[in-house]
Amino acid sequence: MPHPSPPPDDDSGALFGLDALTPAPAGQGPSFRDSPTARRLLPVREIHAEPAAAASPRGRQIIARFPEARVITVDSHWRIPGLHGNEGNVERWVRVKGETLVLGERKTLTTRPNGRSADWIAPGPSNGCAMACAYCYVPRRKGYANPVTVFTNIERIIAHLARHVARQGPKSEPNQCDAESWVYDIGENGDCSVDALICDNTADLVRAFRQWPTAKASFATKFVNPDLLALDPRGRTRIRFSVMPADDSRLLDVRTTPVAERIRAAAEFLDAGYEVHFNLSPVVVRPGWQDAWTELLKQLDDVLPQRVKRQAAAEVIMLTHNRDLHEVNLGWHPRAEDVLWRPDIQQAKRSENGAFNVRYRNGVKARAVDDLRALIGRHAPWLDVRYAF
Ligand code: SF4
Repeated sequence: MPHPSPPPDDDSGALFGLDALTPAPAGQGPSFRDSPTARRLLPVREIHAEPAAAASPRGRQIIARFPEARVITVDSHWRIPGLHGNEGNVERWVRVKGETLVLGERKTLTTRPNGRSADWIAPGPSNGCAMACAYCYVPRRKGYANPVTVFTNIERIIAHLARHVARQGPKSEPNQCDAESWVYDIGENGDCSVDALICDNTADLVRAFRQWPTAKASFATKFVNPDLLALDPRGRTRIRFSVMPADDSRLLDVRTTPVAERIRAAAEFLDAGYEVHFNLSPVVVRPGWQDAWTELLKQLDDVLPQRVKRQAAAEVIMLTHNRDLHEVNLGWHPRAEDVLWRPDIQQAKRSENGAFNVRYRNGVKARAVDDLRALIGRHAPWLDVRYAF
């Protein structure tokens, strides 16, 4: 199989020259998602849609946003021959993420307990992502070469969440997720900032959570979308900017906003009404990783104003990887595998769904977590680590 080159640099960071984040006020002027920058990221040419999803109000809005796209009817968003699975798409891996969308309806509305990052994992508004981080597990259920599926029945998702929030009542005891609110992760299988380039699902969720005083939405992101600044979350949404050393990010975080811009954006998101946390993730153990993280922590300390530091907290997540994803990556971005696939320091773990995952050996992982905690203590002592995993 031919090995296509890694995506050119201008397919990642250079797309996002976001000098000023301030979005146009609601109802005035074009939003960021209509900008040439956003259009370059998502030049949608094909929309695979379940009939009910295409006919729904949200589906019609999305199809209208991309008038040049060909709409192809599919029976189920779960299995689209030629699009899902890993075969055949490896060489188009990055392109398919920008040029193709899937519209479906979320049939199963289940909120699952978590307890680590969030109290609950909400049924998310999407599955898949238009970014292409080499370690990403998000597309695992549809094969690794697949684009964003947008769930168009967002009103059912929100109604389900409203009932769930009401059933919990107030949170009686603080925990590592939050001192006062029940935290719902709304972005387990995608990136809500990227979803907001496509439709208003993220906006609808942010607006819903601001009416629920006992609950808080939370999502991790690697993309700075200035449109989110206009949503007025009133402290009821926690945005978690994922950060890693710049060299790792340039190699691994394909199509995302550069880390320095994510860090610079933090204050504007706080001022716009978000709680702003950080995901230090994934931590990739490689020669020199401690020096690289030291640089990053110093950068956080230098750039972030006090008001961000006062409310910030972090999650530390060590890399986990997967054999199937390793095989896929060898087909489109083999250099990433030099740092991601490290049998000398990793151990296998078969997951509940039978996937062959690898993670750092217990001793390696424990030492790395200790090292990183010590570095945080030295260079960013204001950063509370909510959990390290
Ligand atoms: S931004 Fe997040 S969801 Fe998207 S590819 Fe990267 S890790 Fe996956």
